[in-house]
Amino acid sequence: MNYSSLNYNSSTVSFLEAVKKGLATDRGLYFPEKLPTLSAEFISQISSMSNHELAFHAIHPFIGEDLTEKELKTIIEDTLRFEFPVVPLTNSIASLELFHGPTLAFKDVGARFMARCLAYANQKEKGEKLTILVATSGDTGGAVADGFYEAEGIDVVILYPKGKVSEVQEKQLTTLGKNITALEVAGSFDDCQDMVKTAFIDVELTQHINLTSANSINIARWLAQMFYYFIAYKNRPHPEKELVISVPSGNFGNLCAGIMAQQMGLPIKHFIASTNSNATIPNYLETGNYEPQQSIPTISNAMDVSDPSNFIRIQKIFNNDFYKLKKFVSSYSFSDTKTKKALRELYKNTHYIADPHGAVGYLGLQEYFKEVDETNHQGIFLETAHPIKFAPTVEGTLKLKLDLPSQIEDLMKKPKLSIPLEDYKALKKFLLER
Ligand SMILES: *Cc1c(COP(=O)(O)O)cnc(C)c1O
Repeated sequence: MNYSSLNYNSSTVSFLEAVKKGLATDRGLYFPEKLPTLSAEFISQISSMSNHELAFHAIHPFIGEDLTEKELKTIIEDTLRFEFPVVPLTNSIASLELFHGPTLAFKDVGARFMARCLAYANQKEKGEKLTILVATSGDTGGAVADGFYEAEGIDVVILYPKGKVSEVQEKQLTTLGKNITALEVAGSFDDCQDMVKTAFIDVELTQHINLTSANSINIARWLAQMFYYFIAYKNRPHPEKELVISVPSGNFGNLCAGIMAQQMGLPIKHFIASTNSNATIPNYLETGNYEPQQSIPTISNAMDVSDPSNFIRIQKIFNNDFYKLKKFVSSYSFSDTKTKKALRELYKNTHYIADPHGAVGYLGLQEYFKEVDETNHQGIFLETAHPIKFAPTVEGTLKLKLDLPSQIEDLMKKPKLSIPLEDYKALKKFLLER
């Protein structure tokens, strides 16, 4: 499998090359040259396969010759070392919990998969030192820091918006030290993301250091997220009903992976792109105009993205056919007030404690069920983070105290190590002078 740039102005590369480069030289996102299709036989066997087998079949066609089957299997076994339970909440709604990894958010899978792919790439080429530059709206930073912690020959530099991530998130990205550095940016996530993009096309910089990205624009992170949808399909509580999946979306990488799995043949009828007040995509689907605004801070901060990088890939999957996209994807935006109300409603009616992102996903299903006959549908929303990551909001809204999961008991006691950063000039200076 080869990957070409969606700006169509640079040469195609293999899987591991695309993982190493992150973005193509023309600043475009990489996209596979063709979409694989799943055989009917494979689909009929999904319910009897292990998560590792499913993940292998899902991603194998995207790897090509770059990894042997044995290497890929080892990477998958190392990546998927925790559970992905589907929890039924009502007759038609279930939660797929993606937060049982080391940093308690779904991004662990993509980050771990990418870290292990890069380790193979480096080992094969006895590569020079790599610097991973990553912008985070909250959860990416922690997952990438954990995935790459103490990785040989790899330095990780994380940019995060000052005062706009939760306490647990900040601890996860600022307390590791060693090969992990956190830069605290006076600005929004979009500002952080812009600086990262600028760094990649700054020739003066890229001549001196070997930069790569671990944002969801990196194909290793993006494609590994397909696993969730196979697991959702396998464990759906009502196989006789049509499956619809609601994805709380920010940069739209996770949704893009789901749509990819669907277009390869995985039987998912419909997707719901659920967003917070950052409503660029719901507005686009309604009006046809793509008009990103300044991003708005919300209680589901990992989705405070107004110009989602991966949306262009979703358009590409549908051959830029707006009506085809609308046939498979609905999108709704929800305010913080509605999100808190959903948290309370879920807790009161089903005793389920969601996090604010999952609650947005739940609201998306409810909205969609106003348009279709709910009794024929099985809705699954992705519960993308553990509620403890947003403890002040969840505890305040539900008037309860959450238990600390074992993953973060020690973490909360460690001191924060971060470097304040003003602008791109300062970032460049920092990278060149380290
Ligand atoms: C990153 C994140 C999202 C958004 O995922 P995208 O792939 O960027 O759309 C949603 N919820 C949580 C908890 C996240 O960390």
